[in-house]
Amino acid sequence: MTEWKDGLTRVELYDAMMELFYRDLESWFNAGTFYCDSCVDDFIEQWPGIYNRDLDFQRNFISLDIFYSGGRIQDYFTKEEFFDLSGYIRCPNCGDSLSGHMWPYDLNFDVPDNFDSNVHEIATLAEKTPFLLMLHPFAKEVYTEIEVISKSIEPSLLPNPLYRARVYENEHDYTSKDFLAAPNKYIVEGRYNHAGKQVLYLAEDDLTCYLEMRKPSMGIMLAKIEIINPLKVLDLMAEDLEDNHFVQAMQLSSLMSSPVEGEGWYKPHYVFTRFVADAALSAGFDAIRYPSVRSNTGNNIVVLNYEKLEGQFHVIDFNYVTEADFLTKQKKQRGF
Ligand SMILES: [Zn+2]
Repeated sequence: MTEWKDGLTRVELYDAMMELFYRDLESWFNAGTFYCDSCVDDFIEQWPGIYNRDLDFQRNFISLDIFYSGGRIQDYFTKEEFFDLSGYIRCPNCGDSLSGHMWPYDLNFDVPDNFDSNVHEIATLAEKTPFLLMLHPFAKEVYTEIEVISKSIEPSLLPNPLYRARVYENEHDYTSKDFLAAPNKYIVEGRYNHAGKQVLYLAEDDLTCYLEMRKPSMGIMLAKIEIINPLKVLDLMAEDLEDNHFVQAMQLSSLMSSPVEGEGWYKPHYVFTRFVADAALSAGFDAIRYPSVRSNTGNNIVVLNYEKLEGQFHVIDFNYVTEADFLTKQKKQRGF
C-alpha cells in the first residue's frame, strides 16, 4: 500500500488522492461535482424544485468518513492520510474547505446564461415594481418561449378525475358548488392568479390535494372533478420539454417552485408565476400543469381560463377524508 508513494511530494499525493476522489464520486453518485455545508442552503434556496423533486439530491448526502470507507481511496491511502490531505479539498461550487459532508449532484440541464443574476433581478422587481417585470429581458424571453411552445400544442383531454378539496368543517352543508371557483370578490392573489380572478387549482391525485391544503388535522372534503372538453395545456413537465433548459431552469428554480409565501397581500414569490400565467393565457393556453411544491411526486393543474370554460367542470362526487386516511396512504406510498 505504501511503495508507490515513495518520493512523491505532498502536492503529488494530494493530486493522486483527488483523482481517486472524483472517480469514486462519479462511479458512486454519477456526479462530477458536489455541494458542501457552506453552500448547500443557498443551492436549496436557489433550486427548491430540485430539493423537493429529485430525491437523489437528498439521498446523496454523505460524510467524508463514509465516503472514504465506501470507496476505492482506501485501497491507496490510510484513513489518517486521507483526513490529513482532505483538509485541502475545496468545494467546487463555493471554494470553501470541506467541514465533513458533501452533497454530490450534477444539474441535468445547462443553466441559461446569467440565470443567477436574472433570478436576482426578477426577485427585486417583483418586490419593488412588479408591473415593470415585462421590461426585463429575461421576462421577455420567457414570454417568447411560451409563445413558441404554444405553436406545437393542441388541446387535449385532461386526466380524469382531478381533485379539489376544502378543509373539512363539521357544520357545513357541502354542495358541488363548494368545489368550483369562488365568486370574484372573495378571491385573493394566488400562485397563478391575480386577486379577483377566477381560476381552478386542481391536483392530479388525492394525496397531493391533501398536501396542497397543508395537511389539515380535521381532514378534507375531497371532490373528484371531470373536465369535459379538451383544454390547451402548458405542461411544464412534458417529456418533450425535458431538454428545454429554459423551462427546466425556470420551473426548478425559486422563480416558480418557491415553497415560501408572503403574509396577507405580500406575496412577491407569486409575481413571476402570475406573469407566466398571463403569458400562457395570452399565448392561447387554457391551463398550466406544474409540479406541486408540497409533494415530492404529485402534480397540479391550474385552469386559467375558468370564466370562459364555466359549465365544463363536472363535480363527480365528494367525500370526507380524514387525516389518518392520508397518513396511511402516505406511508404506503413511501413503502413502509
Ligand atoms: Zn460549497
